[in-house]
Amino acid sequence: MAYTEVDFARFQKNELKPGDTFQFACAMCGNCCRNRREAILMTGADIFRAAKALGVSVEAVLPKNFETYVGEDSHVPLYVLAERLDGSCRFLRKGRCLIQQDKPAVCALFPLGRFFDTRDNSFHYFMNHSGCNTGSANGKTWALEEWLDEFHIRDTEAMTAVWHKLLTRLAEVTCRMKKEDICGDLLEDLRRVLYLGYDTSAPYIEQVEARIPSALDVFKRK
Ligand code: SF4
Ligand code: SF4
Repeated sequence: MAYTEVDFARFQKNELKPGDTFQFACAMCGNCCRNRREAILMTGADIFRAAKALGVSVEAVLPKNFETYVGEDSHVPLYVLAERLDGSCRFLRKGRCLIQQDKPAVCALFPLGRFFDTRDNSFHYFMNHSGCNTGSANGKTWALEEWLDEFHIRDTEAMTAVWHKLLTRLAEVTCRMKKEDICGDLLEDLRRVLYLGYDTSAPYIEQVEARIPSALDVFKRK
């Protein structure tokens, strides 16, 4: 999830700063939960929150609801939301999101997008014009902070940030390796460190922080 200078320029062009407003009215059509043009990328924090909301372990929630692949540039294992055969998200039931209050940040933010700047550990929010053809850009006027409060985005920033710290530590090594070498036991170890074995009844941040100092041990084992 390394951003290029072109990405940063695009984000900055559409960036909303605290105090900025935008207009949007969601038509509640649910189209952004079906046949998405772009897969919805998860963070470890998103997966932890989904498992906790459903009252199951991360191991139980992962295989059915998410698909994994090795990132093109970072070469770390990543997860996206899985779709049913009809193109709908597996968390969509009778037109409602099963994890509505704890849905992934990408879903909660829409039509805003977010990027995490690893250079100074800061989050930036921007208008994301792709993917919604039915919401109205002439709707209610929202202040940025009001929109972020709606789904507790600020409350979960620290969880996301610490996971990015762990991810970045691993990606600094994997991005210098050949993608085809991220396989077998190493791939499983990377998945385990990033996503598995987290206790959803305990605070997330402390659990991730505890893994960061020894995260690079996965490469020693290889
Ligand atoms: S997680 Fe919820 S909000 Fe996100 S795509 Fe799935 S059903 Fe929709
Ligand atoms: S954000 Fe857009 S696509 Fe998604 S439910 Fe609202 S109107 Fe529909």
